[in-house]
Amino acid sequence: MTAYTAPIEDVAFLLGRVFDFDTRMAGLPGCEEVDTELAVSVLEEAGKFASEMLEPLNRPNDEEGCRLVDGEVVTAKGMAEAYRAFAEAGWTSLSGDPEHGGQGLPRVLQLLLDEFLCSAHLSFSLFPGLSRGAVEAIEAHASPELKAAYLPKMIAGEWTGAMALTEASAGTDLGLLATRATPNGDSSYAVRGTKIFISSGDHDFGGNVIHLVLARLPDAPKGVKGISLFLCPKFLPEADGALGARNALSVGALEHKMGIHAQPTCVMNYDGATGWLVGEPGRGLAAMFTMMNAERLMVGVQGLGVAEIANQKAAAYARERLQGSGGNGKGPVAIVAHPDVRRMLLSGRAFIEAARALAVWTALQMETAARHPDAATRAEADALVALLTPVIKAAFTDFGFETAVAAQQVFGGHGYIREWGMEQYVRDARIAQVYEGTNGVQAMDLVTRKIGLDGGAPIRRFFDLVRADLGAAGPAAGAALTAPVAEALARLESATTVLRTAAAPEVGAAATDYLRLFALVAFGWMWVRMAAAAAPLGDAATRTERRKPALAQFFVDRMLPQTTALHATVGASAASTMALEANAI
Ligand SMILES: Cc1cc2nc3c(=O)[nH]c(=O)nc-3n(C[C@H](O)[C@H](O)[C@H](O)COP(=O)(O)OP(=O)(O)OC[C@H]3O[C@@H](n4cnc5c(N)ncnc54)[C@H](O)[C@@H]3O)c2cc1C
Repeated sequence: MTAYTAPIEDVAFLLGRVFDFDTRMAGLPGCEEVDTELAVSVLEEAGKFASEMLEPLNRPNDEEGCRLVDGEVVTAKGMAEAYRAFAEAGWTSLSGDPEHGGQGLPRVLQLLLDEFLCSAHLSFSLFPGLSRGAVEAIEAHASPELKAAYLPKMIAGEWTGAMALTEASAGTDLGLLATRATPNGDSSYAVRGTKIFISSGDHDFGGNVIHLVLARLPDAPKGVKGISLFLCPKFLPEADGALGARNALSVGALEHKMGIHAQPTCVMNYDGATGWLVGEPGRGLAAMFTMMNAERLMVGVQGLGVAEIANQKAAAYARERLQGSGGNGKGPVAIVAHPDVRRMLLSGRAFIEAARALAVWTALQMETAARHPDAATRAEADALVALLTPVIKAAFTDFGFETAVAAQQVFGGHGYIREWGMEQYVRDARIAQVYEGTNGVQAMDLVTRKIGLDGGAPIRRFFDLVRADLGAAGPAAGAALTAPVAEALARLESATTVLRTAAAPEVGAAATDYLRLFALVAFGWMWVRMAAAAAPLGDAATRTERRKPALAQFFVDRMLPQTTALHATVGASAASTMALEANAI
């Protein structure tokens, strides 16, 4: 079985040819020294770490899983060593704030590193992913004392982070949560309650585990307005940062689950655990959203990462597996000759490369939102990121799962048995559609909040950007590509107009289809940009670049037409969806 190869050529193409990375970085304070050459050399090293250190552990770690021994999590063999090597090599601090020991490199490098980790070892990727989300929430909302005590160790990767929201009766609806926090009389609180499904809740990597826990203060109002955020460490740090007494939090059990077996998903008991308030009382959900938005993008990238490796393995298999005559009477031929096998592989490729481009574009907007000297430009970029976040989370994980299933299908029966490892990708990819807000809830966020943000200004700006790029790319990309994408854009604009004035059941019934329609248009936009950037390269084009126009045309011919059906379902009445009584469904 072939090993994982990080898509470095594609990254170099996106940064250097499609997104004019060097000019963009030159205009952002703090990024002036970063260019494509530096980014690619950093990512080459990241790719090596992922393929040489992590990928070999993926399968054995999945087989072994995690255990709870005397109340402590024991991770699978090799994971702790790999995590320490990862932190020592500086990967946990890549995009961290230099004020707290981070390297301050742009988010786009972080996002691509994340993709490589997710391809190589999804269970592993959650540790640094959650730690970074916790760091962002602490940076944005915690007191200077908490920042000084926790951020340097977390950014250095000595301490990890966990996100503790979910309870047995409070999943999507966090307003129902019951965990309580009472003041201890000093600056701390005692947190009491049980959380379920807490990823990276504990481990045996050494150091500390920093839980960000949602809980209610005494007399807090019901619902989300009564929720506050608390930082509860596994060990209470001494003044000098050394690990002190064990805090009153413990792992009650490990969840037994379909995939990500090497990731400890914990039932956490907080039995009067000492915690400190992060942000304002009653504003916990708003503070937690800093972490949740970071995680939503990260989870989208999980879908992309698993799709990439599953597709790589399926393509390699399809080139070697001999079955069937290929229609010329001579045989057997490699199955990659069969149009239906090509359909599966190319649908995956056409999603993966457009999704990576969209993720890079979004990460560049995030950098602009964080660093641009002009406040209006920052706000505009921030609103575009907010608009795209549910699309990336849900569409990347839906298409990512579909790609993993198609890659498994390419293996026929050999994909279903464990030996080839393809069934693990299907099991692992599945969770990304569920956690961090289910994909249905992401679609509701898009249709009920994001398309109406600022009176619809961000979505209009998005449409204008796509239209302008289609116009600019037209001569290089060709009308066979740009015209169908322009028509799909018109469908999306019309569906948006319908939903912005529709009643609640219509909006709810159409949400998931609308999100997919949105994603397909965004992918089409990216394909036009990539095809236009690759067209003039001629003999200088790399192997990756030479493939772009054909992949773009495949996407437009075979995937973009789904937008017609989606436009129809978005516009259909919700009456049939709501007609049956609950007990008749
Ligand atoms: C392996 C794993 C790891 C996890 N890691 C973490 C973690 O680290 N930290 C953490 O806090 N949580 C974590 N979770 C919890 C996860 O985020 C929740 O499971 C998820 O948000 C859904 O909540 P629920 O399971 O209670 O489903 P429910 O909220 O009961 O939803 C059930 C179904 O109803 C739909 N639904 C619910 N409300 C609405 C609505 N208003 N509109 C439309 N549809 C709706 C949902 O889309 C879903 O299909 C994890 C879960 C798993 C399985």
